[in-house]
Amino acid sequence: MSSEVAARRDAKKLVRSPSGLRMVPEHRADGSPFGLEEPPWVPDKECPRCMQCDTKFDFLTRKHHCRRCGKCFCDKCCGQKVALRRMCFVDPVRQCAGCAPVSRREADFYDRQLKLLLSGATFLVTFGNSEKPDTMVCRLSSNQRFLLLDGDADDHREVEVARIAAVQMLTEGLPPGGGNARATGMTLQYTAPGAEGLTQLTLTAGEDADGSRRQATAWLAAMHKVPPAPRSLAPCPAEVPPPASARHTPLFLVTLQAAKLLYESRDQ
Ligand SMILES: [Zn+2]
Ligand SMILES: [Zn+2]
Repeated sequence: MSSEVAARRDAKKLVRSPSGLRMVPEHRADGSPFGLEEPPWVPDKECPRCMQCDTKFDFLTRKHHCRRCGKCFCDKCCGQKVALRRMCFVDPVRQCAGCAPVSRREADFYDRQLKLLLSGATFLVTFGNSEKPDTMVCRLSSNQRFLLLDGDADDHREVEVARIAAVQMLTEGLPPGGGNARATGMTLQYTAPGAEGLTQLTLTAGEDADGSRRQATAWLAAMHKVPPAPRSLAPCPAEVPPPASARHTPLFLVTLQAAKLLYESRDQ
């Protein structure tokens, strides 16, 4: 990717919506695969009462829309202002009691795990069935659309996140006497541009340098915290559609959630 193309992909603009100020990508096609569209607001005439506590709206009890779900509530039921980075809001926005905790968890992802994913870690990387792994640094691109892999010299590869079809986490066996399973690697299957069928890629935390191994396992753990995919991804008319086999809500995010659940149940 030339730096000019990279800069174009990262260009952003400020837009004002009824819900607040948003900093969105200049080109819709360059949006984050973790991004969410703003919901349509339930029209005022369809909600004479709070959709949570049933209080009737009047001159004193004003209605407010939750910025995440678009439903209509009184101030008590929709008074929390929480960051909503997936919709690109610049400031915390009003959310209902159902949406606020979800956004808080995601804010934790954006504040902590995302930084790890962007800074990257060193892995032993195997492509397809090749036997000898390459040492490469893997990181998420700044617009979150690509996993970028850099090895020695000019060895550069990229995997588009939206084209990842499945992810399997590789873990170390549970230590005797209980404890947490540790992610030691990740196998992902994706459709590479111009390639038939699925391509496979395996990242493994190296055994040698202790510092880089710790960074690699932290990077893998951060991948577990990736927010679940939106129900439908907005079509990008500017782009050539991916092959039918890849035209899906990225399953990999769902798979990650499943892996995370597995982890959580093991942790207990
Ligand atoms: Zn209410
Ligand atoms: Zn809500």
